[in-house]
Amino acid sequence: MQERQTKQKQIIYDVLTTLDHPTATEVYNYVHEHYPTVSRATVFRVLGGFVGSGKALELKVAGEEVRYDYNVVPHYHAHCTKCGKVADVEVDRGQLKGLHATGMHGFEVCGYSVEFFGTCASCKEIS
Ligand SMILES: [Zn+2]
Ligand SMILES: [Zn+2]
Repeated sequence: MQERQTKQKQIIYDVLTTLDHPTATEVYNYVHEHYPTVSRATVFRVLGGFVGSGKALELKVAGEEVRYDYNVVPHYHAHCTKCGKVADVEVDRGQLKGLHATGMHGFEVCGYSVEFFGTCASCKEIS
């Protein structure tokens, strides 16, 4: 039993690294195609476990299904408002620090999160 669980976890983690910021449903669909015995409940539970143990990040955007990211090093995301695709983006951290310098109303900043929204390359092609 233990061994089977470990194998399922490995499969799900591999899928997480293969797909680009997938939703749990996308992970499940992919896993199910290759390993029909893995249940949807297992996929959801294992993904939740990854988040709990710091192996994956949850990306939450209001009104959208939660996406998962195996890259737990702090980084930034661009969200496509048309198809929901999420991509990693490079940000100059020095510029973000500059934002802290003004208008913080006395807050001592201990962190920040930045999300970019726009149209992804393939959606731009279609329109
Ligand atoms: Zn798009
Ligand atoms: Zn990411």
